[in-house]
Amino acid sequence: MRLIIMGPPGAGKGTQAKFIAEHFAIPAISTGDIFRANVSQGTELGVEAKRYMDAGEYVPDEVTNLMVRNRIDEPDAEPGFLLDGYPRTLAQVEELDGMIKHTGHALDAVVVLTVDQDEVVERLLQRAETDGRADDTADVIRRRQEIYGEETAPLIEVYRDRGLLIEVDGLGEIGDVTQRIFDALDVVPQS
Ligand code: ADP
Repeated sequence: MRLIIMGPPGAGKGTQAKFIAEHFAIPAISTGDIFRANVSQGTELGVEAKRYMDAGEYVPDEVTNLMVRNRIDEPDAEPGFLLDGYPRTLAQVEELDGMIKHTGHALDAVVVLTVDQDEVVERLLQRAETDGRADDTADVIRRRQEIYGEETAPLIEVYRDRGLLIEVDGLGEIGDVTQRIFDALDVVPQS
């Protein structure tokens, strides 16, 4: 099973990714989490990524692509994976196509969580209080939403044209959203 979960900042991708990955017994690969782990360990990659993340900008494609390529080459990702936060640009879509083709597999589905902008700003500001993420400030959230609209939202049409898109309402209780995703995914054949 090879899946992508997409949605604007604060849509709840990470929360839902865990449940989906557990259900299919595949790793949830979050580029944001990998970057944050590198930032806290002070690696070279972390130092580079932090400059962009703190400003709400995307980390350059070359850096992100290489990181994802290495991660999905790990043995645990051989039966499949769920990508959270990747691809985010058209160039990353192409890169991922190459990576998956190389393994002789195909993408099964792309789940998009749809949410109301104002609602998610509230969620993110609340998360700022509990998790203290450096990029959950009002200004940086605005920039992340902007860049999502410019760079990432166009990917939805790309995957819709390929017949892979599953749109799920991301508002409401966490468990209800998970159930909607599972209902929608049951129609997707396993590979
Ligand atoms: P959110 O979806 O809430 O904005 P993430 O945890 O997915 O948060 O990502 C945090 C930050 O990590 C992004 O704002 C960006 O700087 C960087 N990042 C994550 N994934 C990518 C990617 N695929 N391409 C470029 N930058 C990325």
